[in-house]
Amino acid sequence: MINQTLRDMLQSHGLKATFQRLTILEYLMTHETHPTAEMIHDNLPSISLATIYNTLDKLVDVGIVIVIDTLKDDKRHYDYYGEPHYHIINSNTSEIIDADNFDVTQLFEAARQASGLNITGFHIEVYGVGPNQAK
Ligand SMILES: [Zn+2]
Repeated sequence: MINQTLRDMLQSHGLKATFQRLTILEYLMTHETHPTAEMIHDNLPSISLATIYNTLDKLVDVGIVIVIDTLKDDKRHYDYYGEPHYHIINSNTSEIIDADNFDVTQLFEAARQASGLNITGFHIEVYGVGPNQAK
């Protein structure tokens, strides 16, 4: 039951499973569109935009949701990040494409050697343009 899974997920991250958090998290999990807060509000008009922003901030704080804010549209896009994956971003259209993970062991090892840190996570964005698009 998805609702129970979401409740458990919020609680294991120290958040109360409020209606707003459950609703917004479920929306992000079932829409791989990397929406902005405004786009979420358009689809969930019963929740105020301010509440959506506050809720997203909390979900980002605890690491369930990530922000992608490197697009040319200068907007913050949100993404459920339960399953780490990398993003391929079309620099011209700002389309964000999810891609399955690959073996990042070498990257982690290089990062560990460069920093001395134990690597606990990563977030990769790859940029590109279509074969017939100018840069
Ligand atoms: Zn994604």
